[in-house]
Amino acid sequence: MSTLLQQLRQTVGHEHVLTPETDLSAWEQDWRQRARGKALAVVRPATTDEVAQVVRSCAASGTAIVPQGGNTGLVVGSVPDDSGTQIVLSLQRMNRVRALDTENLTLTVDAGCILQQVQDAAAQASLLFPLSLASEGSCTIGGNLATNAGGTQVLRYGNARELCLGLEVVTAQGEIWHGLSGLRKDNTGYDLRHLMMGSEGTLGIITAATLKLFPQPAAQLTAWATVPDLHAAVQLLSLAQRQLGAALTGFEVMSQFSLSLVAKHLPQLNVPLYTQSPWCVLLELSDNESEAHAHQAFEILLGAAMEAEVVTDAVIAQNLSQAQALWQVRESISMAQAQEGLNIKHDISLPISSIPAFVAETDALLEREIAGVRLVNFGHLGDGNLHYNVQAPEGGNSQQFLQTQEDRVNTLVFEQVRKYQGSISAEHGIGTLKVHTLPRYKDATALVMMRALKQALDPQNIFNPGKVLP
Ligand code: FAD
Repeated sequence: MSTLLQQLRQTVGHEHVLTPETDLSAWEQDWRQRARGKALAVVRPATTDEVAQVVRSCAASGTAIVPQGGNTGLVVGSVPDDSGTQIVLSLQRMNRVRALDTENLTLTVDAGCILQQVQDAAAQASLLFPLSLASEGSCTIGGNLATNAGGTQVLRYGNARELCLGLEVVTAQGEIWHGLSGLRKDNTGYDLRHLMMGSEGTLGIITAATLKLFPQPAAQLTAWATVPDLHAAVQLLSLAQRQLGAALTGFEVMSQFSLSLVAKHLPQLNVPLYTQSPWCVLLELSDNESEAHAHQAFEILLGAAMEAEVVTDAVIAQNLSQAQALWQVRESISMAQAQEGLNIKHDISLPISSIPAFVAETDALLEREIAGVRLVNFGHLGDGNLHYNVQAPEGGNSQQFLQTQEDRVNTLVFEQVRKYQGSISAEHGIGTLKVHTLPRYKDATALVMMRALKQALDPQNIFNPGKVLP
């Protein structure tokens, strides 16, 4: 092993190979504190050539590599196991903006760039890179692509996958695939870019990406509406899509209980209207004309929705800071929920039309099975993506609840997801957290093809072993 560490130090410099004599907890501990691994070393290359050399050295000694960006993943995919034999390959030092092409509307960046840095680089050229997540101040674009991240703008712009035109990738043999194309059309065989995206570091190490940019909207407005039930929320979505078309860029739904947790734990935030109704909806409109035009469009939409009795009350943000305050309420639900105690999280997707029936049936099932259970339900309704989370009964021991109920609750929820033809992971991925659940819910033939691809591209199984595929 000392030979490997020597080689790695020669490649990236002595100070960029960190060993357990240093505190490695920032790289070994996952964001949700669900698992703490033990690394042989953390290696921090600065260039693609260095990444390729690190991979070649590890491949020669059969050493496993765990690629890591911002370590904000929620499924324990970016930390090593506890064997002390795996290398964490951190992309943090690869954070250069490589090229901007304002006519082709593309931006090429190193994989270790923080998402906010990418958004800022686009904004400086008066352009928009629309990927937006609550973790954008610390997640990296490499991690976003490796997990095919979603976020709040998927309704209009798609997942990370839809926002990437080209990739540069280091293979398990330590070769470099130069795929940084800015082409919108390229039918020259298998699309390896799409294979790498969402592969969670198991097929290759993404070292750079060419990203799609968009014109910035002239104005962005936010509205908050109360709806009598989830069926009405779905009807409001259809109405908004018909009236606003591509200008509808966000559509989030939040249950009364999830908002009551924000009001309880973050009293400095003003949570509008939530006591009046079981569900609230946050809508975002991106307008190409003006703020006044956006305002008018919202007024027409909400007026029609009230007439149709799908909305009972609504407010429209009057300025940017009011709009940001509404988003802050939505984005604070996870934090408020964490302050209420440990909970069981589900990041599921369903056909939008099935969501009201799924929620009614699954809520009733869980309430019947576990007396006093509390359901924290919110999510990106516009994408059919719910964060269907389960909290211990009031005053209960949440640690004990997790230990005794997690498997049972997961099975109850995932069986319901299967019944309604949904997915057990909408945007967070599989990592190690769902690795043993996946085979039960993924099509058997798809799993055979996934294993064949892994075997073909990484026959030594050195890239993120134990993640995605058991
Ligand atoms: P990491 O956590 O470091 O890694 C994630 C996975 O990608 C691991 O399997 C890792 O091995 C692999 N990986 C990382 N970099 C590379 C690379 N360069 N090449 C190959 N593999 C790599 N996710 C959403 O989709 N939508 C949300 O709305 C959302 N909101 C969040 C809110 C909060 C508060 C937090 C903490 C997380 C949220 N996430 C969300 C999850 C997380 O931020 C995303 O999964 C993000 O894309 C991970 O990026 P990262 O750089 O932190 O990756």
